[in-house]
Amino acid sequence: MAFDDLGLSPKVLAAVEAAGYKEPTPIQAQAIPHVMSRRDIIGIAQTGTGKTASFVLPMLSLLEKGRARARMPRTLILEPTRELAAQVEQNFVIYGQNHKLTVALLIGGVSFDEQEKKLDRGADVLIATPGRLLDHVERGKLLLTGVEILVIDEADRMLDMGFIPDIERICRLVPFTRQTLFFSATMPNEIQRLTGQFLHNPEQIEVARQATAADTVRQVLVTSPSVPKEKRAILRQEIRDAKNLTTAIVFCNRKRDVATLHRSLQRHGFNAGALHGDLDQRERMATLAKFRAGEINLLIASDVAARGLDIPAVSHVFNFDVPSHAEDYVHRIGRTGRAGREGDAITIATPDDRKYVASIEKMLGGPIPRRDGSADEATGGDDAPEDRKQRSRRGGGKDSRQGGRSASSSKSEKPQDKQTEERASGRQSDRSERKPGKSRRSSEDAGADRPVIGLGDHVPDFLLRPVRRPADTSGND
Ligand code: AMP
Repeated sequence: MAFDDLGLSPKVLAAVEAAGYKEPTPIQAQAIPHVMSRRDIIGIAQTGTGKTASFVLPMLSLLEKGRARARMPRTLILEPTRELAAQVEQNFVIYGQNHKLTVALLIGGVSFDEQEKKLDRGADVLIATPGRLLDHVERGKLLLTGVEILVIDEADRMLDMGFIPDIERICRLVPFTRQTLFFSATMPNEIQRLTGQFLHNPEQIEVARQATAADTVRQVLVTSPSVPKEKRAILRQEIRDAKNLTTAIVFCNRKRDVATLHRSLQRHGFNAGALHGDLDQRERMATLAKFRAGEINLLIASDVAARGLDIPAVSHVFNFDVPSHAEDYVHRIGRTGRAGREGDAITIATPDDRKYVASIEKMLGGPIPRRDGSADEATGGDDAPEDRKQRSRRGGGKDSRQGGRSASSSKSEKPQDKQTEERASGRQSDRSERKPGKSRRSSEDAGADRPVIGLGDHVPDFLLRPVRRPADTSGND
């Protein structure tokens, strides 16, 4: 099957050629002809299958007929996250280079004014997150009665995020006669109910999971105790030992843990950025841009924040947490090993994760090779990088440091003086978690040639008394 056979317009075909695509992906080959003949679609497909182009390309072709009217967009695309919405907008820029269409992005975290100005001028395509779209409707700035094509993307993610009532409301605001293109990676009951309610005689298309990722991705399960501090130490060791690491995504299950791990990795001199729902739009875009440009090479993310990110060359995926949904595992590891390239997926698993590991392995159809996790930087990893350097000079530690060096840029390794300074001022939080006795030993290990600042190596006994901490969520290790 060739793109020429799908019924797309010449302008769109020219843009596809310019993008360098040789042939349509399975979801494109199956969905595009139906979209072009104005059928409703249920596409069961994940990110990475080319599903965005499967709706953007035919939409562009269909939009060539007719013109926008102020405040009455002709197409509406709903996305669960701002990042996904911004990426779909990017797709319109790439594939719509031969069109004069106006695209408005209505997402939270940015001012209403600019968005309203764009709406006043008339937008052909609206790409929105549900909440912000409804805000605009409520402000009376937006009429959805001109919508001819409605796209609901990543519907199962919308369900996870509690957006289904908003989606139902929006479906009632757009004309009954519209065409609806509905995409979801999975079809739980609530999603099926939604399609039964709002789609008319849909054509259902299902493309194989991106299980092919598993063929080019080397997977390993690194066993770890359940203690977060020890897990973090094992992760650091895995990053340092990783071979040929260029860029990596580190996944956490909870956004709170994303922030904690991010702080912890930065403190240990890694070149890391974070992506989670609590960051404002500007921060998230800036982090993504830095990651794409290679200014940071570790991206700590939650599934929701990372879903749909189009990052072509991730050499490694680290699962700091085993995902509780098996399909998220496939989704996560699909970030590496793309387009036949090799990739590595390293999952840190604790005894508590046994159930989730079993369901992932069931889905994969076989066991993931296991390895015991170790942290060269002593248990709990509460040494600073300089202590590690001392130890490795003495011959301790593993020999493969290659990945570690690329993972923690030389710029971000703290100079020894800075660390000494931090230690003296108590800023380096390592100290607060040190156990009595251990602290003295670490200080001795760190070398006698350091200038003595403040109390030097003498720590009064009352500072060494153990302090009860509520929970280990600080990342201050
Ligand atoms: P998506 O599933 O929409 O997130 O697309 C995943 C990636 O596949 C994106 O980087 C697209 O640029 C790329 N892509 C989409 N369609 C094709 C195609 N027909 N040939 C090659 N790459 C494609």
